[in-house]
Amino acid sequence: MRTTQFPLSTVKEIPSDAEIASHKLMIRAGLIRKLAAGLYTWLPLGLRVLRKVEKITREEMEKAGALEVLMPALQPAELWQETGRWEQYGPELARLQDRHDRDFCLGPTHEEIITDLARNELKSYKQLPITYYQIQTKFRDEIRPRFGVMRSREFVMKDAYSFHLDQESLQQTYDVMYQAYSNIFNRFGLEFRAVIADSGSIGGAVSHEFHVLADSGEDAIAFSSDSDYAANIEKAEAIMPIGDRAEPAQSLEKVATPEQHSIEEVSRFFAITAEQCLKTLIVKDEDDGLVALLVRGDHELNELKAEKIDGIVSPLQFASDEEIIAACGCKPGSIGPFGLDFPIIADRSVTLMSDFVCGANEDGQHYKGVNWERDLALPERVEDLRIVVEGDPSPDGKGTLTIARGIEVGHIFQLGNKYSESMNASVINEGGKNQIMIMGCYGIGISRVVAAAIEQGHDDKGIIWPNELAPFQVALCPMNMHKSDRLRDTAEKLYQELLDAGIDVLFDDRKVRAGFMFSDMELIGIPHRIVIGDRGLDNGTAEYRARTASENQDIPLTDVVEFLN
Ligand code: ATP
Ligand code: MG
Ligand code: MG
Ligand code: MG
Repeated sequence: MRTTQFPLSTVKEIPSDAEIASHKLMIRAGLIRKLAAGLYTWLPLGLRVLRKVEKITREEMEKAGALEVLMPALQPAELWQETGRWEQYGPELARLQDRHDRDFCLGPTHEEIITDLARNELKSYKQLPITYYQIQTKFRDEIRPRFGVMRSREFVMKDAYSFHLDQESLQQTYDVMYQAYSNIFNRFGLEFRAVIADSGSIGGAVSHEFHVLADSGEDAIAFSSDSDYAANIEKAEAIMPIGDRAEPAQSLEKVATPEQHSIEEVSRFFAITAEQCLKTLIVKDEDDGLVALLVRGDHELNELKAEKIDGIVSPLQFASDEEIIAACGCKPGSIGPFGLDFPIIADRSVTLMSDFVCGANEDGQHYKGVNWERDLALPERVEDLRIVVEGDPSPDGKGTLTIARGIEVGHIFQLGNKYSESMNASVINEGGKNQIMIMGCYGIGISRVVAAAIEQGHDDKGIIWPNELAPFQVALCPMNMHKSDRLRDTAEKLYQELLDAGIDVLFDDRKVRAGFMFSDMELIGIPHRIVIGDRGLDNGTAEYRARTASENQDIPLTDVVEFLN
């Protein structure tokens, strides 16, 4: 490809809503453009990467014996009503009506649709086990779409579904998929971990998430120093023994004995940095050297109260949403599962007062003035929560836990009969009787992988793609080709040779300065660069530099193709 025919859409401006490196770089390198909140167009350069992610995924799915299908994105409500998820799913489900007032949704996932297919297509145990997969657009009306394609409202997912007669067969396919996922993320060239996970609203018992390790990851994962134990921190915390807990307060007016936690624990819990925790403290530190603050959400008043807690009900101080958000560097509700409600910071230790929970982490669901024990059926984990910290013993008794941040790029589940039972998806078994099938499901966030790869691979000059995902392998950059026929001829010839050798090469034939070319090629992250100039030609050499290297290397022109192969 030539840059005169494949225009690079690199830009200098960083969009104001871009918080993390991958989002900034995807815009700056011209991979995507924003249409509206959580909606992005893939430009030609970005699409090449997306297609590579798809290609590797597809190859490994085929190897694992899965059959590709393509299901509609638009799904009739009736199927979702059969499983009860039409009611359960909540506002993330994008619902709409057709011209006859019939209810539909834009699929956030396809369990209902595939189960409907299976109950119609599969008749006999002889057809089992079977795994279907598709690579297709999903819709989720995320409460806070952010980080570009990392958490968007429309995104590409690979989703697979398997059908079985018994648990043993499900376990077999699950193991095959687990291995396929490991192969996929290894081929992507990404550092990842498979962790035990909660299966969330999809349901089922056994489940693993695949996380690409990156500091900007929204999830925390814990893994053992001495064993294979690795879990999403939510899962690790749910199974940790609970220590002595404070008695809950009876109402907002009464105060429970607070629990003490270190800044480190709290910052991890709220997914904010220790610095941001401290900033929360500093917000209202002005008058009398205030040592502690209770930041509590009151979204009905659209403000947050910063309340002194030395002596507990000291005069209230008010901080606006904006102030708190600015101080915490986050959006309302985004710092913890229960809202902005309860970091209390005194010196360098922090008090978590879950008794004061008065906000949930969803729009329109903020409670105030409640006693959660009495008034709210809050999820069990509020009570059961035991914060797991670095160095804690591993739950399997082997070694201690390391905690890292991860980006969830894949998720596999053993669904059991959750969908097949309610939708009556059965086959005739060996004994001639109807038997409900059991299912597994397996997702990869194809578009999220692109962003995750950039989170893991970038520097101040731009993206550093792993070889397998790079939009082009080699950048061919002739210097001042427009002034030298000899150089032009050599460049054209080399370009042709590289193409003939099957190398994905981007030939920069623009009439631009060398520095301009180089910074573009570094920004878009091409792994290998070949520079040819008149001076090198005199010696019959080209300059080679890997994207990650700081020095050039001279290579005889005649060896370039072989060197890159
Ligand atoms: P998250 O916890 O990030 O919201 P999820 O657990 O809701 O993800 P799954 O239902 O497990 O997502 O979907 C399978 C995969 O789809 C996820 O592992 C993730 O890689 C991807 N994915 C989910 N939501 C989004 C989104 N809004 N934008 C991009 N990719 C997504
Ligand atoms: Mg989600
Ligand atoms: Mg998740
Ligand atoms: Mg998930």
